[in-house]
Amino acid sequence: MNRDELLQWLAETNPERLGSLWAQADAVRRQYVGDEVHLRGLLEISSHCVRHCLYCGLRAPNRDLPRYRMNKDEILACARQAADFGYGTVVLQSGEDPGLTNDFVADVIRRIKSDTPLAVTLSLGERSEQELAAWRAAGADRYLLRFETSNARLYAAIHPSLPGRRSDRIALLRQLRELEYEIGGGVMIGIPGQTFEDLADDIEWFARLDLDMIGVGPFIPHPATPLGQGAGRFRVCNQVPNNEEMTCKVMALARLICPEANIPATTALATLDRRNGMELGLTRGGNVVMPNLTPAVYRSRYDIYPEKANIQEAAPECLGSVEHGIIRLGRRIGQGRGDSASYLRRRSAASWKA
Ligand code: SAM
Ligand code: SF4
Repeated sequence: MNRDELLQWLAETNPERLGSLWAQADAVRRQYVGDEVHLRGLLEISSHCVRHCLYCGLRAPNRDLPRYRMNKDEILACARQAADFGYGTVVLQSGEDPGLTNDFVADVIRRIKSDTPLAVTLSLGERSEQELAAWRAAGADRYLLRFETSNARLYAAIHPSLPGRRSDRIALLRQLRELEYEIGGGVMIGIPGQTFEDLADDIEWFARLDLDMIGVGPFIPHPATPLGQGAGRFRVCNQVPNNEEMTCKVMALARLICPEANIPATTALATLDRRNGMELGLTRGGNVVMPNLTPAVYRSRYDIYPEKANIQEAAPECLGSVEHGIIRLGRRIGQGRGDSASYLRRRSAASWKA
């Protein structure tokens, strides 16, 4: 698909033509990754964060938020629960928290890998190359790091660098690829100041980085953040809306452009549309869902944006409603780790060369 076609789809509003986009994305999804929906247990292990991202409720300056960091035994107990539920993967996610030290994280990974058959995905923000290498050596399989927007000016404005540290998530994704992680990137849809051209660039970046996982969710304003308190200075004339249709368009286009990628129907999409968000995501390109495993005592404190879907549901109920939704669509729960087809292809090419 060329850039003009991408831009045309992003601007499309005709329901019939959009219906044909959803159908194409669904057919390509079925052809390349099948009818299985892989479940990844999401564990939000710490809400501490040193960053000042203008969009996120966990940002360091939000001093009203009571913070938590789970201990190793708590994390291990939740990982065992993920294995008991039949998930293939546990995703350890957090703010950018120096309290999650190199040794702490490496030990947690080793213990999960020795006690369970789970694949381990990390989503711990921008960490040093030494830490990322140590965690890969300890057994971590995948790393999720959305680049949020490929517009360098907008990115710098909403994601300030820390003193003495340049923030370049695209460069970090390339480093993660070198370390042989399965890599996941992605963007928020409808960030104040984001244009349709920016989104077309973002989708082209998904392909250029040959992402194994692509996470796309709507921007949801948080009242305790600068972007949630009025974002006048970011105003542009062709602003992308942060709605369900726009999010689904980007998911569908991502599926057409990166047919082998694993693409989740995100919690943020389910937050915009509690009844149908997950089902829409799964029929417009998605093949992954991430049920929340975080213990109830911590869950509301992982306050990225307000009214997060599934915030009240305990892990078993969350799994139950996800499974029902998948079966209602005539799809199957994925078995095994659910590695991305692109990653497996790259691995087998590398071993063939060796
Ligand atoms: N700290 C890590 C990082 O930034 O990559 C992982 C946790 S962070 C909360 C995970 C993702 O949440 C971010 O990549 C961002 O896309 C998303 N996010 C943060 N604030 C959001 C908001 N207000 N609306 C929608 N998504 C948001
Ligand atoms: Fe911290 Fe990630 Fe939120 Fe930025 S998006 S404030 S790095 S948790």
